[in-house]
Amino acid sequence: MSLVVVGTVAFDAIETPFGKTDKIIGGAAMYAGLSASFYTQNIKLVSVVGDDFPAAKIAEFNSRGIKTEGLQVKKGEKSFFWAGKYHLDMNSRDTLATELNVLADFDPILPDSYQDCEFLLLGNLTPTVQRTVLERLTNRPKLVVMDTMNFWMDIALEELKRTIAMVDVLTINDEEARQLSGEYSLVKAARKILAMGPKFLVIKKGEHGALLFHGSDVFFAPALPLEEVFDPTGAGDTFAGGFIGYLAQTRDISFSNMKRAIIYGSAMASFCVEKFGPERLEQLAKSDIDNRLKQFVDLVQFDIELN
Ligand code: AMP
Repeated sequence: MSLVVVGTVAFDAIETPFGKTDKIIGGAAMYAGLSASFYTQNIKLVSVVGDDFPAAKIAEFNSRGIKTEGLQVKKGEKSFFWAGKYHLDMNSRDTLATELNVLADFDPILPDSYQDCEFLLLGNLTPTVQRTVLERLTNRPKLVVMDTMNFWMDIALEELKRTIAMVDVLTINDEEARQLSGEYSLVKAARKILAMGPKFLVIKKGEHGALLFHGSDVFFAPALPLEEVFDPTGAGDTFAGGFIGYLAQTRDISFSNMKRAIIYGSAMASFCVEKFGPERLEQLAKSDIDNRLKQFVDLVQFDIELN
């Protein structure tokens, strides 16, 4: 059994009210893979970078059990680059630059060793590439989770809808759910999006937590109130990585286990925002995660006696 993670591996330049970075390592698959590696082994990456991407970082992925046979390194080309600036509330941001570079004509390679994929995370990337990866797997995985963003809704909506129709779980933020559905109410938005194909929908609301929709069932998970939030970049991908990493570890894709997976994903995302880029995740110990999970349980536990 393996977990295949598809998405960007990239350079980011980030500006928040607390500071600014030069080009640092980023990308949806980088955050998701790193996050999932705390829960499950045998993670396999599908992505593309230029030869400007540090080999030492790829070696670091490998040392964390993330296999990179499906990570193409294009000679003489540049890696995907994204620059963003966060507003004061840190929940919203402006994209300052998206340079597709190697991503512009990316044709994903699925090595034979990836055909044992049981859990597939289609992290944020061109929707056609996400779909191609799914189509290049001989057997349909047990669970396909897909993440995307407004950028693809703006420039490739029909392609995006074709891909969404093929997955089991879609994760997007509240603004994107409204854009995709044309509905302000998230309940109405969820109903419309579930009608597009996915069986489960996760709507991420940043510091206000996340909602899980399935049929007429809804589950809400809070985000942990944090004293310091430095950089929300990658929080959504880190969430998705923790979510599917936990499901892959437990191999249980029931609604009740997905509720737990939402908490595991939220715990990982809460670390991600505490430092710039993936720095906090890179330093994380298992005991930090256990303590944070306990904080989540304490946060929402209460007794009410109903007559
Ligand atoms: P998040 O904050 O969860 O939306 O993820 C931010 C990460 O997504 C950054 O590390 C970027 O490199 C990456 N990213 C930004 N724009 C895109 C895009 N259009 N497609 C794929 N990945 C992107």
